[in-house]
Amino acid sequence: MKNLVKKRVSHSNASLFAFVFYALIFFAASPAMAYTNINDIRMWTAPDHTRLVFDLSKSTKYEIFRLHKPERIVIDIANSKMQAKSTSLALPDAVLLSIRHGKQKNGVTRIVLDVKEGVSPRSFLLKKSSKKPHRLVVDLIPKQKKVIKTKDVVKQGKHRDIIIAVDAGHGGEDPGATGKNKLKEKTVTLAVAKKLARLINARPGMKAVLIRSGDYYVSLKNRVRKVRAINADMMISIHADAIKTRSVKGASVYTLSESGATPDRVAAALAAKENAVDEIGGARPEQEVTDPLVRGILGDMAKRDGLDSSEMLANLMIKKLTGTFPIKYSQPKHARFAVLTTLEIPCILVEMDYISNPKREKLLKSNAHQKKLAKAMYKASVDFFTRMGRISPQTATAHIHTVHQGESLWSIAKQYGVSVSSLKKLNQFKHSTLKVGQRIRLPQS
Ligand SMILES: [Zn+2]
Repeated sequence: MKNLVKKRVSHSNASLFAFVFYALIFFAASPAMAYTNINDIRMWTAPDHTRLVFDLSKSTKYEIFRLHKPERIVIDIANSKMQAKSTSLALPDAVLLSIRHGKQKNGVTRIVLDVKEGVSPRSFLLKKSSKKPHRLVVDLIPKQKKVIKTKDVVKQGKHRDIIIAVDAGHGGEDPGATGKNKLKEKTVTLAVAKKLARLINARPGMKAVLIRSGDYYVSLKNRVRKVRAINADMMISIHADAIKTRSVKGASVYTLSESGATPDRVAAALAAKENAVDEIGGARPEQEVTDPLVRGILGDMAKRDGLDSSEMLANLMIKKLTGTFPIKYSQPKHARFAVLTTLEIPCILVEMDYISNPKREKLLKSNAHQKKLAKAMYKASVDFFTRMGRISPQTATAHIHTVHQGESLWSIAKQYGVSVSSLKKLNQFKHSTLKVGQRIRLPQS
């Protein structure tokens, strides 16, 4: 009897212990394990969409749907808790008016986006990567305006402008390298790209197209597609490098390596770093791989001609940078950069300097230094097209237009954005008739 009682007591002790033990595990672990925390919300406004990025503590299920009158997009995130504040988002923007959230039954967090008429969502989950947590990406795409055909933008034919694609590396979710004093690569690349584009656009006969014009991410594939779509004659991709040793400085210029050629270790490592940005920047998983055009581009379409002229452009670029800037490598380097795997046109990637060097970071941040960098790049492109015979050396210095068949004083004035009277005055014309082959002086911009 005594034994039995003792036994029962010990049994119930064990049960109690087991209950407490499991309860402890359950209560201690449940908030972290069962729920997905929505830890942060970021927003990026691109010209053709607005992107919202939700940082998640782990992957989860979600649903997204539209409601009308008023226009809303609703995101239900299963078993989740909102830990982020949306108050810092720059709202309203072109498509997104406001954002709010509430708790539903069954632990669902409902996020409601008030949007403009006709906005449709595109969404996907991104797995945790080395630099970013699990993410839910929601793109808000405004109602399609009239599709602008390439030929509307770009004049076709023999006398069309030379088009230079200016590609500012990184953007949006992907900051690129960050300096000791927090300067981000994406900020410098865009600043220099804009300055370079301004110089190019100021020159008659040349036109720059910015592949990225604001702080948003463009996937490498979409960069390549855009370069194709605008029918560019050249592409300059702008970056800044980073390395652990803070004293390292100087520019380097890269071209695409030929398939088969073994790129050096430094170049390969850099290419791996620059190519990995889609993971950080948030390219849709398997985005557009079904597109045969892109598949072709990302395959081995790089043509011999493109490679040769890229080499020539890279050498000119190094020459123009030398003297004003420290140079890390005095010869062009070669690597398989996805963004250079484009076309038969000359494409180079310029690593302007090391943002990891605090002294260089300070310079990279300065407006005057950015201007100098842009100017060197501009001069290299002018030199390149002069050597290719696309710009005559005279035009390169004196701003002269040679009259072609079918041109009038009026059409030339329009082409350069100047007035007919200013052309007449500058050239001391008494009348408006022109001869083919006649050379006209243009006002300096
Ligand atoms: Zn970069």
